[in-house]
Amino acid sequence: MDKNLTMDKLVNLCKNRGFVFQGSEIYGGFANTWDFGPVGVELKNNIKRAWWKKFVQEDPNTYGVDAAILMNPKVWEASGHVQSFSDPQMDCKSCKYRFRADNLIEEHSKNSVSAEKMTTKEMEDYIAEHKIKCPHCGNFNWTPIRQFKLMFETSRGTVEGEKDVVYLRPETCQGEYVNFLNVQRTMRAKVPFAIAQIGKSFRNEITPGNFLFRTVEFEQMELQMFCHPEKSMEFYKNYKDRAMKFVEELGLTKENLRYHDHEKLAHYAKAACDIQYNFPIGWQELNGIHHRGIWDLSRHGDFSGKNMEYLDPYTNEKFLPNVIEYSIGADRLMLAIMSEAYEEEKLENGETRVVMHFKPFLAPFKVAILPLQKNLGEKAKEVYNLLSKKFMCDYDEAGSIGKRYRRQDEIGTPFCVTIDFDTLEDNTVTVRDRDTMAQIRLPIDELADYVQKKIEY
Ligand code: ATP
Repeated sequence: MDKNLTMDKLVNLCKNRGFVFQGSEIYGGFANTWDFGPVGVELKNNIKRAWWKKFVQEDPNTYGVDAAILMNPKVWEASGHVQSFSDPQMDCKSCKYRFRADNLIEEHSKNSVSAEKMTTKEMEDYIAEHKIKCPHCGNFNWTPIRQFKLMFETSRGTVEGEKDVVYLRPETCQGEYVNFLNVQRTMRAKVPFAIAQIGKSFRNEITPGNFLFRTVEFEQMELQMFCHPEKSMEFYKNYKDRAMKFVEELGLTKENLRYHDHEKLAHYAKAACDIQYNFPIGWQELNGIHHRGIWDLSRHGDFSGKNMEYLDPYTNEKFLPNVIEYSIGADRLMLAIMSEAYEEEKLENGETRVVMHFKPFLAPFKVAILPLQKNLGEKAKEVYNLLSKKFMCDYDEAGSIGKRYRRQDEIGTPFCVTIDFDTLEDNTVTVRDRDTMAQIRLPIDELADYVQKKIEY
């Protein structure tokens, strides 16, 4: 990560280069919603594809699902969300700004105090004792802590006055638990096996912000591993390793990654850990790995009346599997990948170029096709038509070649292919490497293989 990188620089690059736009921008925006542009949607899709490949495609014991976002409201009673999915909120009575009490304490103590283990009363006492002031207006004039509900509610019903409350899911994993029996039966799956899903989740966060880091609508990539209680710690450790290896393979460097084991566990949990990343805003959670015991399947068994036990065909033992959950936000991971990839590189001629050093398999566009002059467009389009059958390609014929290279560097395109007058004679093109800026000459019919070899994951 470049030491000059700030969140503002990244937001500007995203906005100007088609990665991410403010949601509903022409209406003045809609706070903490973001729209992924033509470049950003490719990057995010590539991230999701890499996760699916690693954790579903390459793992014979993992099955994918795509469950409904709107679920029977009883699901959220069983999961405990209706009763207790909330954060401790404090309002400043002077400026009316709203904060999370746990965040106020952690920020004030520069993370030397963890609010994780504190009760509401302990948090209020700590804030009073240390006279923690409002970060917005500087006054010390707080309301008591209230629990702020994080689930978005909507309603279903066609007859006026007879509407049922339904919730936008705040996590995808419930779609995996409620399909445990279906997947086990139809895939003839044997425990241990996992169910994975990628999809949207919604949270009415008290303090959303920091660009893609915390939004009210985001995508999660989650899997639940169902296993025998005696094997559960082994799987927990295994997913801790696999989760770390995965983000390293995507280009995040070791010095910007660390484990954070949770001190305070939910009453049913046996262990929990985050992987944190050193974002431009500091160390923050990137993903979570949780040992959830039998909580989820037992609760869904109780609330649905279905028997969620598993009968082991080899040992004849009947048991409720333990769950190991691995959960990572696609948007948050994209923010980490963009932060890591960003470089302001000083060139020999004194100029600076901004380059996004994405791993080639993640790059939004693999190849940019650039005719040196407009009248080479016909040949250039031929090359585009050939390569775009295999990879996402960009085509750009406007402006100086130097400026076109810079634009591709900023969106992280690993290869620029230029078409010149020699191309018309000998069917060769120049291929420029994004990172080294070195150029080689290649026959057109070798291009696809050349690129393919470099973008494999
Ligand atoms: P946090 O402590 O940051 O609120 P959490 O512990 O509530 O996160 P989980 O419920 O474990 O998070 O969600 C799993 C993952 O989903 C997180 O590690 C993160 O990558 C992503 N995620 C959670 N909330 C958000 C959000 N509001 N915006 C973007 N990504 C999110």
